[in-house]
Amino acid sequence: MFHTSTIEISKSALQQNIKFIKDFVKEGTTISSVVKGNAYGHGIEQYVPLAEACGINHFSVFSADEAVRVFNTVTNGPTIMVMGQLSPEEIEWAIEKEIEFYVFDLHRFKTAIKVAKKLGKRAIIHLEVETGMNRTGLEANEIKKLLPILKKEGEHIRFRGLCTHFAGAESIANYYRIKKQKSVFEKIKDYFLKHDCIPEQYHTACSAAALRYPSTHMDMVRIGILQYGFFPSTETGVEFLTRKRENDSPLKRLISWKTLVMDTKNVKAGQFIGYGTSYLANQDMKIAIIPVGYSHGYTRNLSNQGRVLINGKRLAVVGMVNMNMMAVDITYTENVKQGDEVVIIGKQGDMEISVSSFGTASDQVNYELLTRLPHNIPRFIVE
Ligand SMILES: *Cc1c(COP(=O)(O)O)cnc(C)c1O
Repeated sequence: MFHTSTIEISKSALQQNIKFIKDFVKEGTTISSVVKGNAYGHGIEQYVPLAEACGINHFSVFSADEAVRVFNTVTNGPTIMVMGQLSPEEIEWAIEKEIEFYVFDLHRFKTAIKVAKKLGKRAIIHLEVETGMNRTGLEANEIKKLLPILKKEGEHIRFRGLCTHFAGAESIANYYRIKKQKSVFEKIKDYFLKHDCIPEQYHTACSAAALRYPSTHMDMVRIGILQYGFFPSTETGVEFLTRKRENDSPLKRLISWKTLVMDTKNVKAGQFIGYGTSYLANQDMKIAIIPVGYSHGYTRNLSNQGRVLINGKRLAVVGMVNMNMMAVDITYTENVKQGDEVVIIGKQGDMEISVSSFGTASDQVNYELLTRLPHNIPRFIVE
């Protein structure tokens, strides 16, 4: 294999997380597995079959490029839903392949009808409505214009869902904003009902909303971060565990990131290590060089800050993280040699580098850290 580090994805961890999600989500509610951002860095091609094996039959992505990858990977013919960007030609592809997609403005709505007519095939759409996030979503005046067209063009449009997205359900500080969004959504729902436009499904919840507000589950929940073994924020994790009176998280991290020691070297007291003067050896030291740097997703902010595991010990990154390499202090670790395993994220012996400790040190949220892991690091499935 031609690579400098590898990512492992744990099948048993996913099984545990999916079971946890199924247990708390209301009976009969579809779980849509959100696999945008390369399945939050886990790799769409590796992750999707594992999720299917756990009984998932609905996948959500942001855009057509991700939808294609899911489409080419799936085996059980699950539903694929695009929540974000689609060009007109991608809309044509989506309708052709029966991929469902969000409609959040009149322009896309009209394009969908036009293309559906041309193909002689119904567009399967989810109308996303604005409830207070102020990102994408149909405004009241647009809904008013859209409803009569939706009724008239029924044979070209399958009104699959009515949906919205909450603006920060992972933070208690947003409680009133979320509550307001819920009530706006209920009003819009009534408006549609009053005009006899009834979707097949209602869905609003992401991981945080699903965990904290069971009334948001409706017909489907769109679950991203939880399936990968992380709470949406520290706050939601603490709140959940306190409420359940549990100490141990029911979630398990799927991902581990590993590499091998590339070289070792002795450095004399008084010498600087690496570029510039950010690390001065104040005693005789021994360092290991690791073939992972910022071009591989190991952020430069972790210069003189990061930790990795070698020989079951937690060791400090010394000096600046380079484009392709970094140095680690092995002065007090016996017998480290070229080819020894280095854990960047994950477990070795009794020690663990968690994604969140890594994230906190580098000032990134789990979401960002995971999705920034380069696509070209090979992903392997492990038990
Ligand atoms: C990303 C996303 C989700 C999933 O969010 P998580 O916090 O990872 O569960 C759900 N819905 C929409 C519209 C999203 O963009």
